[in-house]
Amino acid sequence: MPPEATTCVLASGNAGKLAELSNTLTQHRIRLIAQSEYNVSDVAETGITFLENALIKARHASAATGLPAMADDSGLVVPALNGQPGIYSARYAGTPDSDKKPTDDENIDKLLSELQPLPSQARDAYFVCVLAYLQHPADPLPVIATGYWRGRILDERQGTDGFGYDPVFYCPGEKMTAAQMGKSRKRQISHRALALQELSERLAKLH
Ligand code: IMP
Repeated sequence: MPPEATTCVLASGNAGKLAELSNTLTQHRIRLIAQSEYNVSDVAETGITFLENALIKARHASAATGLPAMADDSGLVVPALNGQPGIYSARYAGTPDSDKKPTDDENIDKLLSELQPLPSQARDAYFVCVLAYLQHPADPLPVIATGYWRGRILDERQGTDGFGYDPVFYCPGEKMTAAQMGKSRKRQISHRALALQELSERLAKLH
């Protein structure tokens, strides 16, 4: 890492995300450090879009540390369900009056039961990931990148790898679900990979 590297705080405590993002960002002389290293707490995600939530998280981390910050927000979008689970992907099967986070299986069960009475084309879906990079909390021109991964929701689970909606997310190009393709392949073609690639290109123009 050359001495002029910029330290940037990642508004996430997820070690997997840190590793994935760090790898690419090192090439842009950005050293990524998890917000937990600075004792930054999670902020309420009060936005109603992926973009708003990514910005809220990045701004909070930047304000708390005085450093440039980066955040991601991602989820599954089913257009036939008005975009649900969308920004509520992690809490889809939860109830408004309970803080208890539903399990991945509960979220999948709810999705399958919502889709069950609908025609087959209602199963078209995509994962989306929005990445936001702020040079400082009041940065008026954040660097934003978006990655999409298109597929279909199966009517039953296939595969055991991965997390979230992976077992029911069928990727036509790979002829298998995200839970069957293995982590390394998923890391090459996923919504997060595509967003990161785009962010990387935009940062190259910035630095
Ligand atoms: P996060 O913003 O990365 O924490 O993702 C929010 C939620 O979206 C997760 O809890 C999952 O339910 C869903 N999700 C996001 N990315 C993926 C993925 O790659 N596979 C499966 N589910 C995902």
